[in-house]
Amino acid sequence: MLDYNHRPSIAERINAAVDASLEAERAATPPRDYLGASRLGQPCERALQFEFAHAPKDEGQEFSGRSLRIFAIGHALEDLAVKWLRAAGLDLATRKRDGGQFGFSVAGGRIRGHVDGIVMGAPAAIGLRTPCLWECKTMNAKNWRACVKDGVAASKPVYAAQIALYQAYMEATVPGISASPALFTAINKDTAELHNELVPFDADLAQRMSDRGVRILRATDAGELLPRMARNRDFFECRFCPFSTRCWSLPT
Ligand code: SF4
Repeated sequence: MLDYNHRPSIAERINAAVDASLEAERAATPPRDYLGASRLGQPCERALQFEFAHAPKDEGQEFSGRSLRIFAIGHALEDLAVKWLRAAGLDLATRKRDGGQFGFSVAGGRIRGHVDGIVMGAPAAIGLRTPCLWECKTMNAKNWRACVKDGVAASKPVYAAQIALYQAYMEATVPGISASPALFTAINKDTAELHNELVPFDADLAQRMSDRGVRILRATDAGELLPRMARNRDFFECRFCPFSTRCWSLPT
């Protein structure tokens, strides 16, 4: 007897099971109860406020299993970058002596950041001033090429904001860290090419991002909604925002 009903293939069955397990793991992870300093450079303060307040994302906007796999691959590649830089002779610390991650906590613990690493020393031939902050990101080929061409500050301002804030806030734990440019490593996920760039401390940017964090906390405490970044929902950022329906259904 003929059976034209589609039966999931082995690939579909396994992929669905993998994604279901990742999504379940994510759902069981308690949400952050703080504002992540790595997010403060995002262009819209209202979107950051929604995130901080744990406003539900629009339907279909939760991270898919595939997105979660992309994040996990990024983390695994960052671990590889640590190995590669150490093999090149950099004294790269990613953990404190007690095993904890380097990071900071300010505003009564309501703004926090976790640091990829701190370069404590490097061979003279490399010419790196230390101690310096190390930040690593993975990118697709298009974004990586833009980063190489224009630099991280122009091509990925959100990462530049993160670096500036981390340099500022890590100064209390690692004196002198903001006097040395940060080392930014970008891995091309498509070609395995590496980009390494020095990022001088931008105190003005760090101050603006810190002020932004305080503004978000204060507005949330006062029950006030921060303004939209755009006048209509066709704006580029709004089209990709996971809170777009929520945001534009509000009167202001
Ligand atoms: S929809 Fe646009 S204005 Fe509203 S929170 Fe998202 S990015 Fe901001």
